[in-house]
Amino acid sequence: MASLCCTISSHHYARPDFVRASKSRERLPTSSSEYGVLLQSCIDTRSLEQGRKLHSQIKEAGFERNRDLLPKLVKLYSSCGRIEDARVLFDRMIKRRLDVFVWTSMISAYVKDGDPSEAIKLFVELLRYGKKPDSYTFSALLKASAELGFHRLTMQLHSMIVKCECILCLSVANSLIYAYGSFGDIGAAHKVFDKMELRDIISWSSMIQACTHVKSYAESMLLFYRMQHEECLKPNELTVVSLLPACGFFSSLRRGQAIHAYAIRNGFSENLIVGSSLVTMYSQCGEPDVAYRVFSSLERKNVILWTSMIKGFSLNGKPGLALNLFQIMQRQGLKPNHITFVVILMACSHGGFVDTGLEIFETMQEKFGVKPRVEHYACVVDMLSRAGRLNDAERFIERMSIRPNGSVLGCLLGACQVHRNVELGEKLAYRLFELEPDNAANYVILSNIYASVGRWDDVGRIRQMMAARGLLKEWGCSWIEIMDKVYVFGAHDKSHSESEKIYKLLEELGDKTTKAGYVPSTKFVLLDVEDEDKKKMLCSHSERLAIAFGLLKAPLGVPIRIAKNLRVCGDCHDAIKLISKVTSRQFIIRDTSRFHHFSQGACSCGDYW
Ligand code: ZN
Ligand code: ZN
Repeated sequence: MASLCCTISSHHYARPDFVRASKSRERLPTSSSEYGVLLQSCIDTRSLEQGRKLHSQIKEAGFERNRDLLPKLVKLYSSCGRIEDARVLFDRMIKRRLDVFVWTSMISAYVKDGDPSEAIKLFVELLRYGKKPDSYTFSALLKASAELGFHRLTMQLHSMIVKCECILCLSVANSLIYAYGSFGDIGAAHKVFDKMELRDIISWSSMIQACTHVKSYAESMLLFYRMQHEECLKPNELTVVSLLPACGFFSSLRRGQAIHAYAIRNGFSENLIVGSSLVTMYSQCGEPDVAYRVFSSLERKNVILWTSMIKGFSLNGKPGLALNLFQIMQRQGLKPNHITFVVILMACSHGGFVDTGLEIFETMQEKFGVKPRVEHYACVVDMLSRAGRLNDAERFIERMSIRPNGSVLGCLLGACQVHRNVELGEKLAYRLFELEPDNAANYVILSNIYASVGRWDDVGRIRQMMAARGLLKEWGCSWIEIMDKVYVFGAHDKSHSESEKIYKLLEELGDKTTKAGYVPSTKFVLLDVEDEDKKKMLCSHSERLAIAFGLLKAPLGVPIRIAKNLRVCGDCHDAIKLISKVTSRQFIIRDTSRFHHFSQGACSCGDYW
């Protein structure tokens, strides 16, 4: 028998030997411990069919209620995804006598099977029987708790984990980071992470993922750097997926490309989630063509991937291609989801395809069964507003079947600024002040509307309102990556060590662009100052500082990529078009809603943004 046990313990030979054993009557196991060994091999190889045969033999041999075999049978069925069979056996056992490992098998099975609530229920029962959970139980429960969005339960589990001295277990600490990260509780995740004595790739990736989840991209990058330099760990798929959004956010094409190359070398570029993240990253770096190559290279495609690509085209001023892809996707039998509709409506909005957009909106429910949500309404309002159809937009809002929120009204308010519609702007702004009293942007837009028609008293009044409520205007800044380093510029920023050179270059560019026909549009400086000062203030908007720095530092001929946290103003837009002409350089600027590809005096957005 010893030789049989040997071969069985090696997974590779487990099945054939077992089959032979079960076929020949005389070689049937005779003791419960032999059955135990055979069962274990079925658990290890997830051989459900063999396991079932074994189960009936165990019944025949009268071992079914054996204290060692029964838990193994539970484990067998739960690890093969036969959760109901496992539960029947589990309920047959005397619970108070059960080992915690049996409870944990059952709990983990529910988590894996996508029924986290049942897992938590079992855990409560386990505690009632006075059992002490172990590290495996906690790992499974933390996953369940994250899936259910139970932040408080996670904290309670955390304190139990500390009491049970399981915090030193790597997988428990990793699960805690994952759970806290999923709630966006970055502080708690960091506390666990910082206290760990030993960290593996999952710890680092979970922490990076947590930072990316709350859009702390600089922190994600920093952690990645530390992970490589302090611990020499090899990134896995989770690391790659968590890091790519950070590369996209910083328009850090070089880093993104390096990660892409790494993914190819390590064979996970075919993974759908990695693929979608790559498509998004390239799109965010202003490279929709490369994104499309990645998209096309993937054999299997799901709705998320299609949606990422449609968004990529839309962001990069190719709304026609976005619409095309939307049609092809449907022809291939894929059903767009609510995110796809947000993306395609945004494409129509940016492209000025108002009629197409309205048609898609009108038919999304009956044709695809996707009920319009507030974000879809916001897209339509944005679409009508951009097209200058302010009255239509207002009427559309009045007819909405759900209550308009801040983003719906905000779209139209923004359009009132562009079209200098004071009356409608005031009406909307006061509605917004009630809806979202702490959103500084609404006050800023109203004060800009007043400023654009020279109503300085009203500007002052709004500023006072802001001050009284303790609101600050969002600080406009742009960033650029040069040789693996990201440089951030604020408006009128003089803190950079090469500030002098930057301002000198901007002055020279100012002269050249003026000769090329540039007239500063001072209405974009919404302060009550003299015109000459206004020109200077325009000249030092953050994106222009970043452009000048890019021209000084980036290798010749390379397009200069810049990202900005606010919208590019109309004057900078005009100026950058001409700078691209006089310097024969290409500038790719991403602002809050889209990309502007400037080249030879024109922009990809066709001045429609
Ligand atoms: Zn500007
Ligand atoms: Zn543009």
